[in-house]
Formats: sequence, structure tokens, C-alpha cells
Amino acid sequence: MTETSERRVAIIGGGFSGVAQAVALAKAGIPFVLFEKGSSVGGTWFWNKYPGLTCDVPVMAYCLSYDPQAKSEMLLATSDELQGHVEAVVERFDLAPHIRLNTEIVAARWSGSDWAIETAGGEVERFDVLAQATGFLHHPRFPQIAGLESFAGTVVHSSQWDRSLQTAGMRVAVIGNGSTGVQLVSALTEDAAEVSLFQRTPQWILPVPNVAVPGWIRRHYSASVERGAKLQRRLLGMVAAVLGGAATKNGMMRKSLALACRRNLARVKDPELRAKLTPTDPPGCKRPVMSWTFYEAIQRDNARLVTDGIAEIEPGGIRTVEGTLHEVDVIVLATGFQSHNYMRPMLVTGRGGLDLNTVWGDAPWAYNGIMVPGFPSMVMFMGPHAPLTNVSPIESAEHLSEFVVRAVRMLDAGEIQTLEPTAEALERWRAEVTAGLKGTTWDAGCTSWYVGGDGIPVNYPFSRKRWLSDLDAGPKTADLVVGVRAAA
Ligand code: NAP
Repeated sequence: MTETSERRVAIIGGGFSGVAQAVALAKAGIPFVLFEKGSSVGGTWFWNKYPGLTCDVPVMAYCLSYDPQAKSEMLLATSDELQGHVEAVVERFDLAPHIRLNTEIVAARWSGSDWAIETAGGEVERFDVLAQATGFLHHPRFPQIAGLESFAGTVVHSSQWDRSLQTAGMRVAVIGNGSTGVQLVSALTEDAAEVSLFQRTPQWILPVPNVAVPGWIRRHYSASVERGAKLQRRLLGMVAAVLGGAATKNGMMRKSLALACRRNLARVKDPELRAKLTPTDPPGCKRPVMSWTFYEAIQRDNARLVTDGIAEIEPGGIRTVEGTLHEVDVIVLATGFQSHNYMRPMLVTGRGGLDLNTVWGDAPWAYNGIMVPGFPSMVMFMGPHAPLTNVSPIESAEHLSEFVVRAVRMLDAGEIQTLEPTAEALERWRAEVTAGLKGTTWDAGCTSWYVGGDGIPVNYPFSRKRWLSDLDAGPKTADLVVGVRAAA
């Protein structure tokens, strides 16, 4: 790589976002180091390996645009296929020399002029710009259930699945029926002796069949990178219109998705089982669960749906509040993630030692979902109130990566000394987003990982067009940059 800048960028995290940032910087000739605590890149798809895991978003809409061919012969790619896709991008752009695997960052401190990044091994290195690409569905949420540690069999969180774990012929309990729980039940019921799903709140499920991608579609996508990327942009526009439209407008799209969920549920024949699986929340209040196989799986002879609350866990199994002991060999915790931690527990300190953990508490906000006042030259991928379902996170990552490239160019040119939003800009954004979220499906009052500690869904209520054009306008939006014009 021929270097075109004296600024250095630290990227923390080697998932789709971190690798997108690495590609953009490598193309621009801006020096960078990508730190990844795992032994390979891939992020979510490196860590999560539980049975039945496929990405529930069609593969053509779920890949970096520099490599837009359908990675999978099936519509829904496996975890290994998606990890392989990220690895292939690293190879194609010769990023490996810039990547430090098995390197966890425990602290990032703003010194007044740059960022001091500290590894778990105690090494400190300095960078001008910090790109936080740590993801947010990463730190497991373990349930507070009495006696969990006393269980005599195996307990595993879905995100820490070890492929040597045997479940064939076993009695397995799955706690949690979100996107993860339904995929697990679909897969485990194929060969376990018995699978008991402990459901606290029923969820609406959109039918998304995992069909083979026809050869002519695969050929279209792989004809050339440009053509594949163009097709992908069109598809992403459609997906955003459907999912974003349904969530933010009370119109046709919302009604159609609700109808699709109801029709899917009607595939459950036993009225008693169907009643137990019927949510009281409106569709779209929680993150949509997508599956074609779950309702079929839960009707198998070896499947049990347990809706009585869990009282405690004993050495032999799970006891419910009405006194029944469900004897099991393995307990799988599909209980989700501490999704509002973002990069925490990493210590992040900004101007004057300001601690991000204290600034955020349990209700994080970031201007435009990417920057926090008091933390100069730090951007976040998938930050609080960045779009979750209404814009592709991968498309967002590619646009935000170019935003960072433009910021570095402005630093190089002396147009700015650091990049930081004003506190007023964040307040304006907070008020606008809070008002925009009223009337969305996310704001319908259900329990969901979407909802922040302030009771406000951590979502983005505006259009894909607005989100991407705000990123594309980038740091040029002068009123968001405080006191950073370089002295003449
Ligand atoms: P989740 O959506 O947060 O669901 C957690 C489940 O665990 C819920 O059913 C919850 O019940 C239950 N639960 C939590 N604590 C419990 C307790 N103490 N006792 C009983 N039940 C408890 O987590 P997830 O299913 O892992 O999914 C998280 C997100 O990851 C998804 O929303 C999605 O964005 C992503 N994901 C994506 C894919 C994909 O294919 N792309 C696959 C999996 C996950 P309540 O509803 O009552 O709280």
C-alpha cells in the first residue's frame, strides 16, 4: 500500500464493519491497524456457531459490495459461508499485514491530541482516529435464574457454542425464543431425544423459506463486481422499503407483514399450541424473527413448548413455577445479548478524562448514531440509534468507512484538527429521533432488546436515503464540528 497520509487509524473489531473500514482505508492509502480479539475475522459469524444458524437475511443482501456474488447456493448463508466471505475480502485486498488477531483492546484514552489504545497484554499504541467496529450483539446476556450453576449437565450460551457438544439423542432445553431460539429448535429437534423450548413471551415469525438461489440469479450477481454491486443496491432499496416502511408507517406494508406472520402461525394445527404461540404484542415491536421451519419443528413429536415460568434450575433439570421438573441433559441459553454495551467493558475516556461509560449509563446516544461529544475523532459502526432493520448494516458500514476517509483527508488538509459533534447537535438529534420514533412499531411498548434504559427504542426512524446521504455528506456538515478550524 502506498501511503498517502501521516494520520493513522485504529479499527477495533474484524467483523463486516471493521473489514469494510479496512478496505476503504487501504484503497485510500491511509495507514491503519485492525485489532481483533478472535483468532480470525468474521465478527458475529466467527463467534456464533450454534446448530441451525443461518443468516436470516437473503445472502445477496448480506455481503460486502466488493464481493457481491451469492456466497451460498441457498438463500440464507451459513455462519461458515459468511465468515469465509469476510476472509476472502481480507485476502483480495491484502489486508492481513494490517490485522492483529488475538488482540483484545481494553482501553482507549484521548490524550488531548491522539488516541492511546491499550491491548489486554498491556501494550499501548497511538492513533489519530479511532473506528469502533465492535458490534453490539456480542456480550452474552446470562439469565438470573436461581440454581443455574448447580445444573449437573451442560449449560451453554448460544454464542459460545462448542461444535464438539453432542445433542443427538439427548434431552435438550432451550431457554428463549428469539431469532436464535427458533433456529436452535428447528435444528435440534432433528436428532435430539427431546427438545423443550422455554418461552417467556411469544414472538411473531415471518415466513422466510431457505430455498436454493436459482443459477441465473447467481450468474447475474457474479457477472462483474460492478453489476453485482448495482443489483445489490437495488435489492437493499427494496428490503429497506419493506422493513423500514412497515416499521415507520402505519400502511400497507405493515398490514402485509402482519398478515404474513398470522398466516405463518396458522400452520400450527393444534389450537392449544397455536394459542400458546400467539403473541399479544403487535408484529414488528420486537426485532422480526424469520423462519420457515420453526412451526414445523415445534409440532414434532420430540418437541415441547413450556410456557410456565422458570422457578429454578436443579442438578437434574428445570423446575417451573407450578412445580414440574423438566429433566434435561443440556441447557442452551438463547437469552440474547447485552446489546447496549457496544464496545464496553472497554474503558473509553475522552476530553478531560470523560468516561464514556458514565456519559452513557444504560441509555447510550450518539450523534447520527456515530459520534459522541467529548470523544474527538472517534466514530462508531452500528452505534446507538444507527439503523438496525431499515438500512443494511453492511451498506451503512461501507458509507461510514468513506466518511472516515474524508475526515482523514480534512485532517490532512488542516481543515479540522479533530472531528466531534457539539453537545447541541446531539440534543437536536436526540429530540428529532425521539419524535420520529413515535408511532413506529418499535415504540409499541413490548419488552425487547431494542428498548434503551430511557425507554426509547435504540432505532433509527428515518429513511435509508436520508441515512446514507447524511453519511455521504459527512464531516463537511460544518455546524457539527466544534472549534476545530485550524489556526491560520
Ligand atoms: P433475543 O432476541 O434478545 O431473545 C432472547 C430470548 O430469551 C427472548 O425470548 C427472551 O424472552 C428470552 N429470555 C431472556 N431472559 C430470559 C429469562 N431469564 N427467562 C426466560 N426467557 C428469557 O436474543 P436472540 O434470539 O439471541 O437474538 C438477538 C438478536 O440477534 C436478534 O434480534 C437478531 O438481531 C440477531 N440474530 C440474528 C440472526 C440472523 O439470522 N441474522 C440469528 C440470531 C440472532 P422475552 O422476550 O420474554 O424477553
